Amino acid sequence: MPVKNDLKNFTFDTAVIGAGPAGLSAAVRARFVKSRGAFPMSAVVFECSEAAGGLANFGGTKITGPSFHLERGELTARLMKDVKLFDIPIIKDRIVKIKKAADGSHFLLSAAGGGIYRARSVIIASGMRPLSNEIRFFGNGVEITYMGYDFINKMISGFIGDAARNDKKFIIYGNKYSLNLINFVISAVNCLKTDFDKMSPLFLIDADEKELKNDKIIKKYPFLFSFGKIVKFYGGGRLEKIAVESLDGVRFEKTDRVLIDYNSFELAPEFGVKIYPGSDIFDKTGFVKISAAGATKIKGVFAAGDITGPYYSVSRAVAAGITAAFSAYEYVMRLKKRPGDYSLFAYKARNFTPGIEYREIDIDSSRDETPVLAKPAKIKKILRAKFPDAPATLMNKLMVYFIQYKILARKDFEEISKLLNISFIELNDLVSFLIDEKLLGIE
Ligand SMILES: Cc1cc2nc3c(=O)[nH]c(=O)nc-3n(C[C@H](O)[C@H](O)[C@H](O)COP(=O)(O)OP(=O)(O)OC[C@H]3O[C@@H](n4cnc5c(N)ncnc54)[C@H](O)[C@@H]3O)c2cc1C
Repeated sequence: MPVKNDLKNFTFDTAVIGAGPAGLSAAVRARFVKSRGAFPMSAVVFECSEAAGGLANFGGTKITGPSFHLERGELTARLMKDVKLFDIPIIKDRIVKIKKAADGSHFLLSAAGGGIYRARSVIIASGMRPLSNEIRFFGNGVEITYMGYDFINKMISGFIGDAARNDKKFIIYGNKYSLNLINFVISAVNCLKTDFDKMSPLFLIDADEKELKNDKIIKKYPFLFSFGKIVKFYGGGRLEKIAVESLDGVRFEKTDRVLIDYNSFELAPEFGVKIYPGSDIFDKTGFVKISAAGATKIKGVFAAGDITGPYYSVSRAVAAGITAAFSAYEYVMRLKKRPGDYSLFAYKARNFTPGIEYREIDIDSSRDETPVLAKPAKIKKILRAKFPDAPATLMNKLMVYFIQYKILARKDFEEISKLLNISFIELNDLVSFLIDEKLLGIE
């Protein structure tokens, strides 16, 4: 991979927008290949927020699947371990523009901070649009309806109990599609035999009051409803108040708990990235449309995770990130005219030692892809520049490796990395670079 301050002068094989579960999995998968004859792929990730992990870092997120269970932050920590292992740079900036180069060989990604980066493929994993700044308060006064009605039932009973006992102000925020939830909450309140007066108004509805005035439930419990749109959440650590905008202007309401009926809001992503040449990669609601392989309408642009629409879950985002990475890999390898069937297979990152298992350039001798040396003098010059302290005898020894038949065999890799005192990953990058520069070829 390029040195840290040289990221703008390097054409990455893939650029991933967003370091949530989809983006991190995509980057790690794209970089990690373990199949015979597969080539390594360089990857870079852009993340506009303070930390990697996306929404999976917030609230009570639990990642569950058949026979596994990870707590909030655990998955991010594991993925970040791999990000480090594979030396994947994460650039803290917001991508605002993606433009395909005139010759179609790569994309130019412009960041809000002014940088322009190059990549042969792009994986969009930017998640979905929040309503306002609620993400900061997830788990600290803001909850959302994400987890199905069983969970909501328990949560609401708890909140209503708290509110009734401690005079805490609990607000349920929804819109005209929230009537199901509202009915559900009212029956929960009735079951709890709680005094409605204590918690009025309980519902804050982002809708035209007149439009809903004939609704049965609103007619029966008018005191439970107020109207307006939350434009900002405030608080030190925990939520303290909200700013609500309505036809009468902006008002502030003290509250220490808001349950947002996310399911009722159209949380289509507000994708703040311009794409040139313009191609409609979005569906009607603003989500990115993809094929089963994670491909968008633009060749070389892939997408994964919440940006592609429901169902929203970490496991789904991870799986989609991996799928998009496979597709980006295949696209880039075809673009670079690499030999092979481009098939990769899954791996287990735990206890993974690159020196033993990282064998993506291990060309099977039974194949008829014979690595050949194109320009020895130039290779020597590059090696000298990269390893200025290496004695001439070592250089000569290295050149013997680089000009022999089957230069890319695994044992050569072991020898060369030992001689140069560099890791397999670094050596893979060097060989990839030589192939990119058409100094080392494979026929
Ligand atoms: C409160 C809450 C609880 C949840 N609980 C669960 C749960 O228990 N189990 C579960 O499986 N799922 C849960 N989910 C859903 C799950 O978190 C999401 O489905 C998942 O995080 C989606 O991953 P993603 O990578 O697609 O997007 P995100 O996690 O949203 O990550 C997208 C990243 O992209 C970055 N980004 C956006 N635009 C740009 C740009 N232009 N340039 C650079 N970076 C950009 C963002 O800052 C963000 O870090 C929960 C969600 C929430 C909000």
